[in-house]
Amino acid sequence: VRVGFVGLGKMGSAIAARLVAAGHEVQAWNRTPGKAPKGARECASIREAASNAAVVCTMLADDKAVETVADDLLVGLAPKAIHCSMSTISVALCGRLRDAHAAKGQRFVAAPVFGRPDAAEAGKLWIVPAGAPDALKECEPVFLAAGQGTMPVGDDPQHASLTKLCGNFFLAMMIEGFGEAFALAEKAGLDRKRMAESLAKIIFGGAPIPTGYAGRIAANQFEPAGFAMALGLKDVSLMLQAGEALRVPMPLAHLAQENLLASLAKGRDGWDWGGFSQILRDQAGLE
Ligand code: NAP
Repeated sequence: VRVGFVGLGKMGSAIAARLVAAGHEVQAWNRTPGKAPKGARECASIREAASNAAVVCTMLADDKAVETVADDLLVGLAPKAIHCSMSTISVALCGRLRDAHAAKGQRFVAAPVFGRPDAAEAGKLWIVPAGAPDALKECEPVFLAAGQGTMPVGDDPQHASLTKLCGNFFLAMMIEGFGEAFALAEKAGLDRKRMAESLAKIIFGGAPIPTGYAGRIAANQFEPAGFAMALGLKDVSLMLQAGEALRVPMPLAHLAQENLLASLAKGRDGWDWGGFSQILRDQAGLE
């Protein structure tokens, strides 16, 4: 399949490389040039990356970045071609893109992903797409190259965005939980790493995602960032935005938002978002 790929950051470059390895013809564009993976054709413009592609994936930081490229995609995509948005963006923007592409006779699929850059490199992402069934089917080669599993959540792209945000809400709660528990353990003189190993096994059955967070938090190991602090704040804020739109109070999401903001206030921009657990250590007076 000829796939356009827009956005070659940590996640995008890894997914684009998987697409090349799976034998797809990849034409890629990134704001900062020189990031196309080996075997992909680096394009000088978004329109060039979209031209004659059956599917164009976007994997960009946030709503602002996706909005920056949206007009060129609307012009560059052929009728019936698919914009497959893999970034974590707002529910509202998913709705606007769905409608704008439909008005041009194009199709829009939201396919946000779970898994960090190392999982993307290994083709082990979990993908939660939503869109028209025929469009989802045509995106399957992309999902197969990038993911270990695809769990469609219906035909409205907004539902994919909301599913991803709910998932990251749980991850934020886990970070807060480990942060509080390990601060308590450390102050009592317990071995945080041993506690992390046991609790990840007992409570989470040794599942890779909680085990990874528990290990990094217990070891205070947040650099280099897999998922950057500012992107974490973006996601928690998008959850609160969705909650406000639907009139759903989310008190715990507010707590995570405060701790993420406090981490950035301390200049921890280069840390993984799991590092907001450090705020709990700071508050407990631990060095
Ligand atoms: P990243 O490494 O920071 O990459 C961000 C990408 O967005 C880069 O290609 C960057 O281009 C581009 N970009 C930013 N602002 C832009 C603008 N105004 N106009 C055009 N391009 C712009 O981030 P990432 O970790 O790959 O994350 C990408 C998306 O995946 C985010 O929505 C994130 O929430 C989601 N996600 C991340 C993870 C993770 O663990 N990292 C996991 C699941 C989902 P430049 O190269 O020019 O800066």
